[in-house]
Amino acid sequence: MKTYQSLVTAQRNFFQTDQTRDVAFRLTALETLRSAVMQYEQELMDSLRADLNKSEFEAYSTEIGFVLEELRFTIKHLASWVKPQKVKTPVTHIGSKSYIYSEPYGVALIISPWNYPFQLALAPLIGAIAAGNCAVIKPSELTPKTSEVVEKIISECFPREFVAVVLGGVGTSQALLKEHFDTIFFTGSVAVGKIIMEAAAKQLIPVTLELGGKSPCIVHEDADLRVAAKRIAWGKWTNAGQTCIAPDYLYVHEKVKDKFLQQLRAAVIELYGEEPLQNSNFTRIVSERHFQRLATFLENGVTFLGGQVNRDALRIEPTVLTKITWDDPIMEDEIFGPILPVMEYRELSEVIDGIGHHPKPLSLYIFTENGQTAEEVLSSVSFGGGCVNDTVYHFASPYLPFGGVGTSGIGSYHGKGSFDTFSHKKSILKQTTRIDIPFRYPNVKDGLKKIKIFLK
Ligand code: NAD
Repeated sequence: MKTYQSLVTAQRNFFQTDQTRDVAFRLTALETLRSAVMQYEQELMDSLRADLNKSEFEAYSTEIGFVLEELRFTIKHLASWVKPQKVKTPVTHIGSKSYIYSEPYGVALIISPWNYPFQLALAPLIGAIAAGNCAVIKPSELTPKTSEVVEKIISECFPREFVAVVLGGVGTSQALLKEHFDTIFFTGSVAVGKIIMEAAAKQLIPVTLELGGKSPCIVHEDADLRVAAKRIAWGKWTNAGQTCIAPDYLYVHEKVKDKFLQQLRAAVIELYGEEPLQNSNFTRIVSERHFQRLATFLENGVTFLGGQVNRDALRIEPTVLTKITWDDPIMEDEIFGPILPVMEYRELSEVIDGIGHHPKPLSLYIFTENGQTAEEVLSSVSFGGGCVNDTVYHFASPYLPFGGVGTSGIGSYHGKGSFDTFSHKKSILKQTTRIDIPFRYPNVKDGLKKIKIFLK
């Protein structure tokens, strides 16, 4: 098996030159990356079209534009993030001052998936560079054209001892995991997340795991059905449902189910046309294997909308299945495709119970006009993050750290969250030598009595 020891050693040596600790160096690197992404915009759009049939609109809004925005935000704020943060000091420490220093881990490994093959490789890299690390990126083998462009951009921007892209599949990933990195950032499936964490545990390497799961979307009886339908249709069928935070399934209140489904049908027609299989801008399924897996779900429940496929083009229409229960095969694992199962409920407690009996989702969405109903769900269900009256949109705010909980992930990123994820937080007490409060010492008269005044 090929090893990557020399690459990691070269990066470690480069890290030890302290060049990446210089904030001006980091800013220059981020600016260089930004120019390159702009320069490669068309090539990225072409590669995303070739790998997944992503439209230029989706390629820009969910991948290229997202990365540019993350770069702009990071460049703007980095100078303030890198400063040691002054925090309070308790009275027991009188005379001293307290700070949190952010220091880079060293050499980071970033492993990314195929569904947003550009964004999910580059967004973590922005955090890694901002925090002063060197990085190795292993993009997905299932989107080879985009991964090649990622490699081209990075090799033109940076020397390999600072940032390197390693192309390859599972074997390459496993060979990289044998090396000693200082932090690992993985985006992908729950099953592979466990493999990553196990490999990291052997060397006590900290991990950030951005995983998946079944993200519920609730449409309550008082929801604005037209708005809900459009936002759900967009969140579900962007990238043909191959989005980690897409609504995986719907819970719709029985009173509004029929009305809502009519609105959903109208929204699909509005966004993707009467014949989505003929729409040249509808994303395809990434591989034959994923297509086969999804096609078997079309047998579940009753088809309310869609259901048609084009096997040769690996395309599946936006599909809505009703009369679904937790016992249907489609409800076992994350769907990760354009099929939306719908369950009905009467009481909110059924929804809370149903979700609570399954692994913690990455996202949750609730549509309601009643703030208390929303709060009831937010406070009783554990999930990574989500929206009230929207889907997916929380992902795009640099002020909201993004990540999962339980099996949907460990850690978070985006905006300052990315900088923090790639930084060790070093707590420092700066003590004065002018005074020396005696009560901590064992030889003080009535020491125990005195210390009890402060520690109680
Ligand atoms: P995956 O786990 O199969 O692969 C992800 C990466 O891991 C790829 O680079 C792949 O080469 C590598 N890999 C695969 N098998 C491996 C193994 N045995 N050992 C080491 N490395 C291995 O995931 P995927 O199919 O590319 O992506 C889809 C999954 O990613 C979904 O579950 C989705 O929910 C999740 N996802 C999560 C987020 C998030 O931000 N939380 C974003 C996108 C996708």
